[in-house]
Parts: sequence; C-alpha cells; structure tokens
Amino acid sequence: MARYTGPVCRLCRREGMKLFLKGERCYTEKCAIEKRNMPPGQHGRRRSSKMQGYGVQLREKQKVKRVYGVLEEQFRRYFEMADRTRGITGETLLQLLERRLDNAVYRMGFSTSRAQGRQLVRHGHFLVNGKKVDIPSYSLKAGDVVTVRQTSRTNPAILHAVGEVKGRGIPEWIALEGELGAKVASIPTRAQINLPVQEQLIVELYSK
Ligand code: SF4
Repeated sequence: MARYTGPVCRLCRREGMKLFLKGERCYTEKCAIEKRNMPPGQHGRRRSSKMQGYGVQLREKQKVKRVYGVLEEQFRRYFEMADRTRGITGETLLQLLERRLDNAVYRMGFSTSRAQGRQLVRHGHFLVNGKKVDIPSYSLKAGDVVTVRQTSRTNPAILHAVGEVKGRGIPEWIALEGELGAKVASIPTRAQINLPVQEQLIVELYSK
C-alpha cells in the first residue's frame, strides 16, 4: 500500500487522539484534536465509539503504524521480529519502532516530527558512531551516538528543531552529547515510551 499523503490531522481525528504528526503545531491550541475531536467526514459525529474486538485491535495497530509512519508490510515484519524475540511481544514491538533512526532523531530534538526526521535522515544529515547513515529504518543499539554532520550544522530545519525541543523534552533513554549529538543511553522501557496505546491488542490481532 502506498504512503498516505492526505491531511495528517485527519488521521488523528480518525483515531481520536493526538498522534503528533505535524511538528510544532501539535503542541499548540491550533491542533485539530484540541479544537474539534471527532472523527472526520460527513458522518464523523455519528461513527460511534462502541467498537469491540477486531475493530478495537485494528485501531490500535493503525495508531502505532501512523505514529511511526510505517507501512503495513514493514509493520508486520517488525511484529514478526518482536514475536521471535524473548520478552513481551507488544513491548518489544514498540522498542523496535522506537529504535528507528528517524524516530530517534525526532526524540533527540533534531527534527520537529518523525516525518521530518525521516526526510533529514534520507538527505544524509546524520552520523551514527561517526559514519553517515541515510536509512530511516536503521535500528539503533544502546551506546550508539547520533550526531549532526559537520556540514549540516547550519541547517535551518535542524537548528529550529533544536530550539523547539525544550517545550517537549528529551526521553530518559537518550543522553544529549555536546551541542548537536545524542547517545542512546539504553534501550527504552515501555514506561519510557510515551505512547498511549494498548500494544497487547496488536499482538492479539496478529495472533489470530
Ligand atoms: Fe494530530 Fe498534530 Fe494535527 Fe494535532 S496538530 S491533529 S496532534 S497532527
């Protein structure tokens, strides 16, 4: 399936929660969820919240996919990887997604959204342990250090994001290093992944 290119606030309204897809605007009162939290479309208001079973499981999966900007195939691969790994499958799934380089760049405050993080990574603005990496799905390990490349240190989008991150903060599993660098201090625990979803429902959905 192709990547969604329509209005992103619509996706939040569909899920009935903030998915933080639009950068700075998500942290202001201009956010569509703050203004009008109801499903999109002519019959949005009538779409009831009486979902059960499969419907609820499907919505949880869609939320997570949309937050991290991954497509169905990729998402299923992450699930299969999590399923093969020891531990709690749902938590491992979120950890795998959280360790993506585009997400980490966002969490580290080098981009205002994951989508922008993905674009900046693709354009080769970052080094991982001193080597250029331009693959958004690159999986970071504990101890990896991400830095903005010397030639990208005046990039307005990155500098703007660094200024803006103070408002949302840096998660505990990340340690800032110098001005434009950050280290993966540890693999994030579920408690450190600030995402109000019930990942167990996704496990149930794929385990059918
Ligand atoms: Fe979602 Fe951000 Fe739009 Fe709010 S502003 S609805 S959080 S994408």
